[in-house]
Parts: sequence; structure tokens; C-alpha cells
Amino acid sequence: MKNTFLKPRQVSVGGIGNVTKLVMGGDSPITIQTMWKEGIVPVLNSEQALISIIEQIQKLQGLGCDIIRFAVPDMASAEALCKISQRTTMPLVADIHFDYKLALRCLEGNVAKIRINPGNIGERKKVEAVVNACREKGAAIRIGVNTGSFPKDIVEKVEKGLISRAEGLAETAAREAGVFDELNFDQFLVSMKASSVKETIDANEAFASKYAIPLHIGVTEAGPLIGGLVKSTLAFSHLLTEGIGSTIRVSLSSSPENEVIAGKEILTECGLRQGGVRIISCPRCGRNGFDVHGFVDRWQSDLLSMKKDITVAVMGCVVNGPGEGKHADLGICGAGDSVLIFKKGEIVRTIREENTQILSQNADIAFREELESL
Ligand code: SF4
Repeated sequence: MKNTFLKPRQVSVGGIGNVTKLVMGGDSPITIQTMWKEGIVPVLNSEQALISIIEQIQKLQGLGCDIIRFAVPDMASAEALCKISQRTTMPLVADIHFDYKLALRCLEGNVAKIRINPGNIGERKKVEAVVNACREKGAAIRIGVNTGSFPKDIVEKVEKGLISRAEGLAETAAREAGVFDELNFDQFLVSMKASSVKETIDANEAFASKYAIPLHIGVTEAGPLIGGLVKSTLAFSHLLTEGIGSTIRVSLSSSPENEVIAGKEILTECGLRQGGVRIISCPRCGRNGFDVHGFVDRWQSDLLSMKKDITVAVMGCVVNGPGEGKHADLGICGAGDSVLIFKKGEIVRTIREENTQILSQNADIAFREELESL
């Protein structure tokens, strides 16, 4: 079938001060975003609070996160975001509703992008003030439309059944984008989010068939970890396979770490992100002689933060361990009262110990040594 979707133009995000510069759209790699889940005002009066946020941002960066959005509901948050943006290389996004002055304040810092909708700001001169400040600073904008923020006339059309909600999303986004076109500003992305997979797909397809504007894709209010993952995976794999989506956010009622890991797994499995550590692990069953779940929980973040391009297998027992994990560069499995470490299916270490706690600690030490030798 002929691909009828337009290739998105490029938008530059970041590159202000020490902030990493990203390019979204065109043939650029697809970036992973998450959203900060706490208030940030404490950083205004506490160096410790600021250091703690910077360290958490670094951890997310290590996991593969490219960009982080922060809610900016008031001026104190805008000031706090400026402060954070001057202490990290991570491109940060200010999420603003209604008050254009918050956007202007954020742009005094090194904020990479503003998420704001022209329709929310009100008067044209306020929209122009934000656009001019972004232009001057080199910051980008994201128009973020969702099914709860339709203008009145579109709500009516949807209610009368004249258009679907997905068409309503695409029409609203096109209208908002039109305002920036009139101001001759093209450094913006668009997102159209619904909480259903079908509406998210339909809206993004409808928009991408008409406009070469890079899309931030996401399913909004996707739900808790499992439900949210399923919805985002279905929507993203469909859209990404069609070449739609320049940046993604897996929205979960869970931690930013889980959102980033999920985004990375989706891109890797869609063949859109190469390298890094791939973890394969067995579900565990009655044959297990090794706490696979505990090991994976303990090691997941560390492994996924490594720059190595390897596969690691974590298997419960020797029956299927080294055999099923043969293609893994490094593997670990239980074998009765022992733990085995193997490379490409060949056993390289056997750790024996009766005390299970000491066995687990010794296995971790041996595993780290073998990992570092790769
Ligand atoms: S590797 Fe062993 S413990 Fe894990 S699921 Fe397979 S048989 Fe069960």
C-alpha cells in the first residue's frame, strides 16, 4: 500500500546554553520523553532539592530519556524550571496552560520547548509575544491537543456526529498550527492525544496525511503500568511502522523511569533504536533455582543505563537456562544450590553457597565482574 503520509519537517529542540541539541522530524532518530511527576518549587529554597532533581534527571538520561516535560502551573514553578534548566544538559519542556507570562518567564532560562496552545492563550498579541520570545531564544513549541480541549464549534460538530473525535483532534490541531503559520513560525510540533488506541491512531494518520509537521505521539491517561503499556505499544507500533511520530511519550500511572524504559523497548522492538543492553528473562516456574524476578528488579536500571550493545539472559534453571540463553552475550541461571554464569551458552562461573542470601550476593558480584569484562 502506498504510504500517503508526509515526511515531517525538522524542528530543533535544545542547544540553548549547555543543553543538548536535538533535531525532531526529517530522518532524525525518534526521541523518548517523559514527564516529571512532582512539584519543583522546593528547588527555589533548597540546594539539596535542586541537586536531587538534577541527579534524577541524570539517571533518566542514562536510561535513554531524551527530553523531560515539567508542569508549570504558576510563576514560582516557572522560576524553578529556569533554575533547573541552567544545571542540566537535558532538554526540558515547560507545560503551560492559559498564562502566556509563564511561558515568557520560562524562556528566560534554558528551556528547550514550551507546550502551549495558541487557542488557550487568548489574544493574538500574547501568542505573538510567546512566538517572538521562542524565536529569539531558539526554543521550540509543542501544540498539545486532546479530546478534552476542543473549541466550542468542534465540540458541537462531534456531538452532532458530523465528525468523529479523531477528526476533531486533527481539525483542532490544524487550526492551532494555522496560527503559527500566520506568524511565520515553523519550529513547532503537534500532539493529538486520546485515551483510546483507535482515536489516537486515526487522529495522527489524518493529520500526517495533510501536514508535514513533526508529531509527538502518545496515548493520554493511558492507565496503570500494564494497561498503559498495552495501549501505548499498540498505538505506537502502528503509527511508527507507518513513519508517523518524531518523538514519543509512554504515559503511565507509574514512574518516569518506567515510562522511559517502555519507550526504549518499543523503539528497539520497532527497529528504531539500536544498541544498548537487551534483557531476556524467563517468567520463572516450579523448576526455578534462582530468583529471576528479584535479580531483574535489582539489575534492570543498571543494565539499561549501560552503553554496551549486548544481550543479557536471566533464567531460572539449568534445564532451559544456558540453552535458551545461548545467543546471549552474558547469562545467569540457577542450578540446584548453585548459580551459573554463562557466555554464549558456555558456563564460565559456578557459584556455590548454602546460605541463599550469601549465594545471591556472591552471584551479583560474579555477574558484575563478568559484565565489566565484556
Ligand atoms: S528457565 Fe527454567 S525456571 Fe525459567 S521458566 Fe524455563 S523451565 Fe522455568
